[in-house]
Amino acid sequence: MNTYFDNAATTKVDDEVLSEMLPYFNILYGNPSSNNTCGRKIRDGLDNSRLEVAKFLNCTPNEIIFTSGATESNNLVLKSCSDICLDDNEEPFHFIFSNIEHKSVLNLKDYLEHKGHEVDLIETLPSGIINLEDLENKIQENTILISCIWINNETGIIQPIEDISLICLSNSINFHVDATQAFGKIPIDLTNIKIDFLSLSAHKLHGPKGIGALYKNKNIDLRCQIIGGSQEEGFRSGTENVSGIIGLGKATEIASEHLIENTRYFERLEKYLFKMLNSYNIDYIVNGDVENKAPWINNIAILNSDAETLVEEMSNYCFSKSSACSKGNYPSHVLQAMSVDDDLIEKSIRLSFSKYTTFEQIDSFCKELSKIVN
Ligand code: PMP
Repeated sequence: MNTYFDNAATTKVDDEVLSEMLPYFNILYGNPSSNNTCGRKIRDGLDNSRLEVAKFLNCTPNEIIFTSGATESNNLVLKSCSDICLDDNEEPFHFIFSNIEHKSVLNLKDYLEHKGHEVDLIETLPSGIINLEDLENKIQENTILISCIWINNETGIIQPIEDISLICLSNSINFHVDATQAFGKIPIDLTNIKIDFLSLSAHKLHGPKGIGALYKNKNIDLRCQIIGGSQEEGFRSGTENVSGIIGLGKATEIASEHLIENTRYFERLEKYLFKMLNSYNIDYIVNGDVENKAPWINNIAILNSDAETLVEEMSNYCFSKSSACSKGNYPSHVLQAMSVDDDLIEKSIRLSFSKYTTFEQIDSFCKELSKIVN
C-alpha cells in the first residue's frame, strides 16, 4: 500500500466508525421515517449522531441538518440566501467571499451574479490570511452574507474567524463558515462566536464519504433546495443516508475524545517534517505563515524540482500538487491569491497528515525526495 499523505483530500475510515456503520446496511435497515419499531430504532441512531455533532459545536441538535457533504452545505446556504431575496421581491443582495474559498463556494459567484446579485472577493495576503481591511472596505448596505473558509484545504492557513464574526455582528451581516478542514480538528464553540451557518464533512475526519452537515442558527431563515418528504425538518428532503450519518456521529465522537492528543501529534509530525527536510538538505519554502497554519496540512515549494515530476516519480507516496478536490484547478487559485510566484507554484506540493501518519513515513519520504532533488 502506498504511503498516504493526502488527508486534506480525504481520510481512511476509522475501523471503529466502519463497525458502527455496518449493521445499518443489513440488520438495522428500516426507514427512519417509518412509524414502526424498525423505523424508531433507526431514528434513535440518527438522533444520537446529531447530538454528537451538536456537542462538538456546542449548539442544539435541531440546528444540525444532515447533507451529502460540505459541497451541498455550501450550496444550500448561498442558494438559500439568493432565494430569500428573490421570493420576497427584494433588491438584489451583495455577497462577500474570500478569494481562497473551496470551489463549492467560489464557483457559486457566477450563479449568484446570474440571479442578479453582486459578489465581491476578499483579497488574501502573502501569509495566506485574508485581508480584513479589504473585507471591511467591501461591505455595502445590502451585504447579506460573508462566507469564509476556516482552515484552507490547500495551505492549512487558519483564518481569523473570530475577527470576521465581530465584523459581521457589528454590520448585521450573516456569516457562513466552511469548516470542512476544521471540524473534528480544532475546538469550535458556537456559543462564543457568532456564526450563522457552518459546513462540515465526515470524510475529512475518518468518516465515510457522501455525508456531511450544515449548522444553521435556529433564528436564521433557510430555504430548502431539495424538495420532497420533508426530512431534516424540511430543510433537506430525501431518505437519510443512515449508515453515513451513523459514521459521521461516530467519527465526531472519536475526534472529540482525542482532539488535544491529535493536535499535539500533528505538531510533532509537522516539526519532524521540517527537521527531516533540513537534515536531507532539501531546499524548500513553506507557502503561507507557519505560525498560523494547521500542522496537519503542509504546502511547500521544493526548490530543485517541479511538483508534476515529484508526484510521478514518487508514486509510492500519495500527495498532491494542488487541491485534489478541484480537478483541473492548476495552477492553484489559492497560491495565486497569495501572490506566490508561478515558478514556485509549479514546485509546490501538499503533504497532509492524519492520526495514522508515522514519523517513519515522513523520514522515508524525505530520504527519497532528497535522492531525486539533490
Ligand atoms: N470545503 C473544503 C474546505 C474542502 O476541503 C472540501 C473537500 N475537499 C469541500 C468543501 C467539499 O467537501 P465534500 O467533499 O464533502 O463535498
